[in-house]
Amino acid sequence: MNASDPARLRVYKFGGTSVASTEHLSAIAQLVAKDYQDGARLVVVVSAMAGETDRLQALARTLCPKPSPRELDALLSTGEQITMALLALALHALGCPARSCTGGQARIRTDHRHNRARIKNIDGTALLKALQKDHILVVAGFQGIDEEGNITTLGRGGSDITAVALAVAIGAGECRIYTDVDGVYTADPRIVPEARRLAQLSHEEMLELSALGARVLQTRAVEFASKYNVPLRVLSSFDPGPGTLISSEEIPAMEQPIISGIAHNRDEAKLTLIGVPDQPGIAHKILGPIATHGIEVDMIVQNIGQDNTTDFTFTVHRRDYEKSMDILRETATQLGARDVRGDNAIIKISVVGVGMRSHAGIASRMFAVLAEQNINIMMISTSEIKISVVIEERYLETGVRALHQAFDLEQKADPLPRSASTG
Ligand code: ADP
Ligand code: ASP
Ligand code: MG
Repeated sequence: MNASDPARLRVYKFGGTSVASTEHLSAIAQLVAKDYQDGARLVVVVSAMAGETDRLQALARTLCPKPSPRELDALLSTGEQITMALLALALHALGCPARSCTGGQARIRTDHRHNRARIKNIDGTALLKALQKDHILVVAGFQGIDEEGNITTLGRGGSDITAVALAVAIGAGECRIYTDVDGVYTADPRIVPEARRLAQLSHEEMLELSALGARVLQTRAVEFASKYNVPLRVLSSFDPGPGTLISSEEIPAMEQPIISGIAHNRDEAKLTLIGVPDQPGIAHKILGPIATHGIEVDMIVQNIGQDNTTDFTFTVHRRDYEKSMDILRETATQLGARDVRGDNAIIKISVVGVGMRSHAGIASRMFAVLAEQNINIMMISTSEIKISVVIEERYLETGVRALHQAFDLEQKADPLPRSASTG
């Protein structure tokens, strides 16, 4: 058998909590060494030790309140470089021929956008050559190099995309994401202790769950995996088990639950412009300046009042809240709006499921459950496979748990087969 045989070629990625100490690194080295000795040819992607990226970021800010994105990347990328070398050393101690490489050494080429670079290409040939020599490659996640040789980073949680992109570049048969939970659950197990591990999910569903806040996988990594049809398996670094398989494989309709999971997102803030003239082009006049500042808008609601004015509400990432409020105050003056209001103590809860496509009544069930808990819904948005609501932050746990229970997600058997009624 050849080292480039996809059945033997695998990419493993270990997240921050999995490499948090030398003890953790030794345990991981044993896992990697065992699979290597069993014949797998491995590229292992590592994150920085838990908390390290935050620590480095804070360090930069103590010296300079607005650090240059280039220097920040030079600094943040060192977190992953520590773990890559330590894991290679731990593998040497077990007699395995491991070699560490930075993103640049692994020839991960990105664009120039510091702190949120996108991978443009990876030269898989050099990596495959090293694998042919039976080396285990330990690659620093979350980083690349641009055309001028500058170090770039790929956005928070970016080691996931390093792993997926490397899997594509070498044609690996499998990309395993090892983390501190033993799979993808029906809700964040930290919020819902009764949450259930899902055996299998489609790329489409995982993409929706990640984009709506389930941070177990970085959204861009799932997008990439879906585009290149890379099967992902989410597993625990320390508890062996089958984990969750995320692939494009069709799940038989009978086994397809209506709701696969519930995601929540604490990163949003809501802004409202009150009493703007109801005229053509008003949405553009309000959101144009927001977009010009590179701020992304998520949900939008417009209510027409009786006096030919409209109230216009939208959400942005919380980090952009203050800036968006400033921009909106200026827009309000220009448009002669009555008031500007903001609220950054909100959260978004979403129910997600491909099975919703062929099933009506989920939205009304969701609203009824929240009403029973006396939770006021501020905004709603729907697509074929998800319903999201914005509510007050203090209701996060109550809301997620009530919905999880109402949609029978905690039961042992597969939840709500498509043919079942949702009430
Ligand atoms: P890593 O450091 O390994 O990249 P992350 O912290 O990014 O790990 O992701 C793992 C965390 O994702 C878990 O500890 C869990 O709290 C959270 N999480 C949120 N939603 C889910 C979900 N639906 N299933 C599993 N974990 C989830
Ligand atoms: N260390 C980086 C972060 O904390 C990347 C990662 O862990 O995936 O965001
Ligand atoms: Mg992560």
